Amino acid sequence: ETTSFSDNQENAGPVPTGPAFSVETVLRAESICKTFDGHRVLRNVSLTVERGELVSIIGPSGCGKSTFLRCLNFLEIPDTGAVTIADDSIRRDGGPWRSSDEAQAHQLRAHVGMVFQSFNLFPHRTVLDNVMLAPQVVKHVAASVIEAEARDLLAKVGLEAAALRYPATLSGGQQQRAAIARALAMRPDVMLYDEPTSALDPRVAEEVLEVMRALDREGMTQIVVTHDMRFARAASDRIVFMEAGEIVEIGDPDEIYVNAHDPRTREFLGASL
Ligand code: ADP
Ligand code: MG
Repeated sequence: ETTSFSDNQENAGPVPTGPAFSVETVLRAESICKTFDGHRVLRNVSLTVERGELVSIIGPSGCGKSTFLRCLNFLEIPDTGAVTIADDSIRRDGGPWRSSDEAQAHQLRAHVGMVFQSFNLFPHRTVLDNVMLAPQVVKHVAASVIEAEARDLLAKVGLEAAALRYPATLSGGQQQRAAIARALAMRPDVMLYDEPTSALDPRVAEEVLEVMRALDREGMTQIVVTHDMRFARAASDRIVFMEAGEIVEIGDPDEIYVNAHDPRTREFLGASL
């Protein structure tokens, strides 16, 4: 995709083309459909995310937000549709899921860092070991190299002093920041968060949100399922509103919050604000 500057009157002349003017798509989901027990949970959900974007997904409980996020890295297997992340792509045609598909999913997941509501750190490992583990096992990089990088990541999330502590001794906000550092250690192209602050009290949640804002400033691509409307509005480049297994509306925050086109979006936001 190439950005066109042809309607910019001040720069009349040759239209610039080439890589310097193209936006880079990091993730593309095409017509994702998912059924659980005969119940259609996702209906043709499509989303394209450019590098560096922070996209928030909002919508009522049970509308399919988590299922969609999990389909993006094949923690749930879509029935039909396609997911492309960086240079890996998987297309589903409704057929059975084979071991060769699982190998492809493994490659696709290498581009993704995932953060859950419930932290999910390894309880019997220190914070530092939690961050170092996946790159050591998956990428076979020397521990000394990974340790330096892991300590940098812990500093980035404000946990350098907690490196040798165990998860249970940390606050929820610290555990979630450790979980973010652990996901970043795999150098993902995109970070996915499923309600990362829902289990936290507001003050502690703010520390986690600040880490996400800092990652945004550094150019990380992030997709966040959230109930935090204030964060969604203030921090997102775009907001996706889902209802009943569909994307109803996608827009920039002011468009969605001030001037939503769809009555379902307006009704949801009216009830949430
Ligand atoms: P949200 O995250 O928006 O609250 P979910 O994606 O968790 O919604 O769920 C969407 C719908 O799919 C809900 O009706 C939920 O009960 C159903 N669902 C989610 N996961 C499963 C599952 N593993 N098995 C059966 N039904 C599921
Ligand atoms: Mg959910």
